[in-house]
Amino acid sequence: MIYPQNVTGKYRSIKNYSSLALLLLYFLCSWIRWPRGAGEPDQALLMDLVNRRVYIFNIEIWPDELYYLTGLLILAALGLFFVTSLFGRVWCGYTCPHTVFVDLFNKVEAFFQGDRNARIKLDSEPMTQDKFIKKMATHLSWVSIAFAFAFGWVCYFYDAPSLVLDLWNGKITSGGLAWLSGLTLSTYLFAGFVRDKVCVYMCPYGRFQSAMLDNDTTIVTYHDWRGEPRGKRDANSKSGDCIDCGRCVFVCPMGIDIRNGLQISCIGCGLCVDACNSVMDKLGRPLNLIGYDSINSSADKMNGVPHAKKLLHPKTLLFGGLFVLVMFLLFYALSNKQEVKIASIHDRNVMFTFLPDGSVRNSYILKIANRTLQKQQIALLVVGIEGATLKLQGFEQDYDTEHKLTLDPDQEIELIAFVKATKEMLKSSKNPISFQVRSDYYDKVFITNSVFIKEQ
Ligand code: SF4
Ligand code: SF4
Repeated sequence: MIYPQNVTGKYRSIKNYSSLALLLLYFLCSWIRWPRGAGEPDQALLMDLVNRRVYIFNIEIWPDELYYLTGLLILAALGLFFVTSLFGRVWCGYTCPHTVFVDLFNKVEAFFQGDRNARIKLDSEPMTQDKFIKKMATHLSWVSIAFAFAFGWVCYFYDAPSLVLDLWNGKITSGGLAWLSGLTLSTYLFAGFVRDKVCVYMCPYGRFQSAMLDNDTTIVTYHDWRGEPRGKRDANSKSGDCIDCGRCVFVCPMGIDIRNGLQISCIGCGLCVDACNSVMDKLGRPLNLIGYDSINSSADKMNGVPHAKKLLHPKTLLFGGLFVLVMFLLFYALSNKQEVKIASIHDRNVMFTFLPDGSVRNSYILKIANRTLQKQQIALLVVGIEGATLKLQGFEQDYDTEHKLTLDPDQEIELIAFVKATKEMLKSSKNPISFQVRSDYYDKVFITNSVFIKEQ
């Protein structure tokens, strides 16, 4: 059991402000409205699993476009690798949702049960009314925070205002209720009881973080050349600056001793830096016996050699370069996102039909989707065989070279299309053709390729 001690200082303040900013972002972003027109959700960020759509402001992602989300995830991972190659595990220490909620749970625990020593004492005592009240208050607060987290999460999958109303009126879907309960329970257990074990045994990132570090990466470092031999200082002693007070260990949320070197459990939160700096300050010794430093910089300081800080080193350049490349690719793909999607399937049962007038007919299933929030007038054409004409089942218009259609916003239609050509128009038994959709609104042409079959 770890009993982290309270600490104040620069990195504690950064952690407080970054947690506050992230929590505000997390809880408020799902409430941003983004009008998209009648019948469309007006939530700026929404994963609409029921209707199989993802909405990110004015971008709408359909199920067959999930590669955009994959691209976003790859971009986020590369951004994380880039930051790690620069500053070690600052993501884990300051911004990881698990860390943020564990920190919040720690604060609640300290509020009701006191600081480290008071909590150790309380846990060693038999149950009394006072202890029961303190424990109950802590756990009820933890459950409330866990529920708030779960609620905030479900808001990204369920229209946020409707979720409040449906919860209030008891009309929430069974899926929504299952997510709310499951996330509340898992957050309560993970942030309340498992805490550091999640980072060490469950999170894969800690396991391969060392692959992103090199000797110029800034990490939380104990300057042993300055601190050792550790021990009580007196006028004649030859001990180093570390007085072995244990403050750096007591404040560590992972319960480790950074003086043993970089460890897989260290999340780079910098709280041991604050703790040790407060001790150094009282002793009148230079700060940063423990500090954010690179191995090369620490070695230069030990040797009294001036050190030129290298922000750009091989791994930084590698991850930074890949990040920029993927960002451009994603931007390119998004800016070329098709406003209309057309797909065709040739009729597999009847490959071709001879008509009484001697011409040949092939039939196709066409799927046309308007992937915008604009009503679109489109023209559907068949090209590739000079003189071939097209007819749509269920439409009055006879065989023609072009058919006008209207697509409502976000509408997908399925059509049975017949293409007719005379034998003279056909050059071979299998003739390549294309169905084209011309959109007046976007002044673009969208194409799907197929084949016109004359004989087996
Ligand atoms: S050793 Fe220091 S930086 Fe690492 S987790 Fe513990 S307090 Fe945070
Ligand atoms: S806080 Fe500083 S002085 Fe105290 S044990 Fe840790 S490294 Fe040594």
